[in-house]
Amino acid sequence: MRKAIGVDLGGSHVTAAVVSEDGKILSSHEQDLEDHAVDAVLQATEAMIDSALKDGEADGVVGIGIGSPGNIDLRNGSVVYSPNFQWENVPLGGRLSERFTQPIFVGNDARCATLGEYTYGTGRGTSNFVLLTLGTGVGGGIVADGDLILGNSDGAGEIGHHQIRARDGFVCNCGKIGCFEAQASGTGLIRHAFAVRNSFPRSTLLDKKPEKLGSKAIRKAAQAGDRHALAAWQNFAEDLAIGVANVIAFVNPQLIALGGGVSSAGDFMIDSIRDRVDELTTMVPKRTTRVVIAQLGNDAGVVGAATMALRGGLKAPG
Ligand SMILES: [Zn+2]
Repeated sequence: MRKAIGVDLGGSHVTAAVVSEDGKILSSHEQDLEDHAVDAVLQATEAMIDSALKDGEADGVVGIGIGSPGNIDLRNGSVVYSPNFQWENVPLGGRLSERFTQPIFVGNDARCATLGEYTYGTGRGTSNFVLLTLGTGVGGGIVADGDLILGNSDGAGEIGHHQIRARDGFVCNCGKIGCFEAQASGTGLIRHAFAVRNSFPRSTLLDKKPEKLGSKAIRKAAQAGDRHALAAWQNFAEDLAIGVANVIAFVNPQLIALGGGVSSAGDFMIDSIRDRVDELTTMVPKRTTRVVIAQLGNDAGVVGAATMALRGGLKAPG
């Protein structure tokens, strides 16, 4: 069976996995990433690909796919711009091609994850599909009539950066105010908790060192009924519902899958937004788009990057 190596370049780690053509992860190698300097990231990436190539599962590997944050020039695999890594015009694909004999494909991480979820996860069997990954940021990808939509300069699907609170929202990494990502990511949930903290003077929800304060604790406290966390969660859910309804207005897919760490809330999250999404869906027949939790979870990154390599690029027909 054909296989590919899928690499997930995350903010805090790099993971390389050998993935078979039926979407199964055969082996996986991960290293923490503390430094986002180009050479440090390349060194860690090369080390993880080396480990994957040597681990006994690599027979039949036809290519290496890299899912990277940022805007990617698909013609040469360069990262044009990544605010998360603070990269501009980094020839990621070119540098890795000098090092490995297998063909290298580089694509935006969220678009890769969309391809993985569409091919092997909740998107299977649909032809109009959207993935939203709710993590540190919000990534997105759109499949319309069976094709991953890339746009004129491979930038389509940046759903995280449509503004939903342009006047009173949080400042986004990209510099704009009130982007969907700033409001409805894990980071957004933490910011919502800070925004309402004065209404809960006795709450201890935010009594942690900033580096220890994650969205998971707030999500879990909300699920357990903590009043402060629930107030933050409700504001977060309102913003999430607005963004999801906007996606329905633009794309009217069969399915919108919510992935990323925050989506571990599962039914609690879907129940929090369902009625509001219906209310905000005006010009598209209601409930013609189902909103569900994504299936691949943390594996979507490596599986998606490998899918890209198996297909011969994000643009190639599946
Ligand atoms: Zn933004």
